[in-house]
Amino acid sequence: MGRTKSSKVLLMTKLLTKKETKMDKGKYEEFLSWRGICKEEGDIVCDKCNGSGISVYGNTATWSSSCGGNAMTRGVCDKCWGSGKSNAPWVNLRKVMASIKIKEADDET
Ligand SMILES: [Zn+2]
Repeated sequence: MGRTKSSKVLLMTKLLTKKETKMDKGKYEEFLSWRGICKEEGDIVCDKCNGSGISVYGNTATWSSSCGGNAMTRGVCDKCWGSGKSNAPWVNLRKVMASIKIKEADDET
């Protein structure tokens, strides 16, 4: 008996977002440095994307939380918004989209 589609998606999500990386520690530190993430200077690595700035979402809507297709999709991390740092997130795209919608609604009235 094979796995159901939803259990396969759950398994893939766990594999793609698991905390442990197979990358050796030195290589990981090099990667963080390449991303401009420096723990010695107080940067906190995002615990959702481990500093990559990318998350894997269960549907094609990614961070927007709107309707989306049924496919695992990579998109910008919705916790650090791509910076890889919990203490210094980049622009919150949900807030940007909300402010655009408010402006559009104001323009219509
Ligand atoms: Zn992140």
